[in-house]
Amino acid sequence: MPANASRALLCWYAVDKRRLPWRAEDGAAPDPYRVWLSEVMLQQTTVAAVKPYFEAFTSRWPTVAALAAAEDGEVMAAWAGLGYYARARNLLACARIVASEHGGRFPDDEAALRKLPGIGAYTAAAIAAIAFGKRAVAVDGNVERVVSRLHAVKTPLPAARSEIRALADAMTPDEGAGDFAQAMMDLGSGICTTRKPDCGRCPVRAWCAAFAEGDPARYPLKAPKAARPKKEGTAYWLERDGEVLLVRRPAKGLLGGMLALPTDAPADGPWRDGGAVDHVFTHFALTMRLKCARGDGGEGIDRYDGLWWPVERIDEAGLPTLFAKLARRGVAWREAA
Ligand code: SF4
Repeated sequence: MPANASRALLCWYAVDKRRLPWRAEDGAAPDPYRVWLSEVMLQQTTVAAVKPYFEAFTSRWPTVAALAAAEDGEVMAAWAGLGYYARARNLLACARIVASEHGGRFPDDEAALRKLPGIGAYTAAAIAAIAFGKRAVAVDGNVERVVSRLHAVKTPLPAARSEIRALADAMTPDEGAGDFAQAMMDLGSGICTTRKPDCGRCPVRAWCAAFAEGDPARYPLKAPKAARPKKEGTAYWLERDGEVLLVRRPAKGLLGGMLALPTDAPADGPWRDGGAVDHVFTHFALTMRLKCARGDGGEGIDRYDGLWWPVERIDEAGLPTLFAKLARRGVAWREAA
């Protein structure tokens, strides 16, 4: 994209940029804590889903020091529903390192940012550019799509990644890299969308090779995908006196550190079928069957290190989405029983 195309994009951004809670008002200095928090929340998650979480986190923990001092369980519960829970654990680990080793200030260059937990190449570049105005090239799925269309990149993804990165680098201006990164994000999410790019409203249409070819939605080209493996599992709804048994999952592994229903039988039963729930994770699809019983679980229950949670308040337990869906099945089972 020639320099005048980059300028056209920046002019469009100056007028039409999205007002987002983590963006600094015109003329104000960006707050690195808010930039970092939003970028971590936005990993694999939409702007609409992130907004209420961002507002809740920043009201409760307005600074990185406040977040660093929070209890693990509180942060995990506040994150519940946003998914990809390793992000929440890394968020807390990162906040604590910034508070204890960097005097509460985020480092301002990509290399130092990348050493922090949960900050990969994209997030480091986005923070360096947006929060600190450094020339950095942040390439996520949106930017990949825009760049592959602007240049009609003929190599399919994922092999095209290095080519796209080099093209994105060549387009990035020396001044205003933060605005440029955000302009590309806005263009990708609002106009140059996956299925129906709105080329009529696009500020860089005049320089777009895919538009000139006539079928921009075919980009980025993709190599055929392997099918997502399917897995199965079982969760247990054990209820006594209006309370259900919950356990804290081990810190490492799937949904680590989150409160959940047990996934191995906490008692002998008899167990009744409570139905099944389908849930798709990044690398596999899971069908989880729910088994339900009433009773105190007998002596073996002690090894669970679990807690009895009032069924009436199950929505407040901060269960991750999979287990929240299973809990709704458990509630339906008790109402039908
Ligand atoms: Fe995307 Fe169309 Fe703009 Fe090209 S002209 S960048 S395909 S919105």
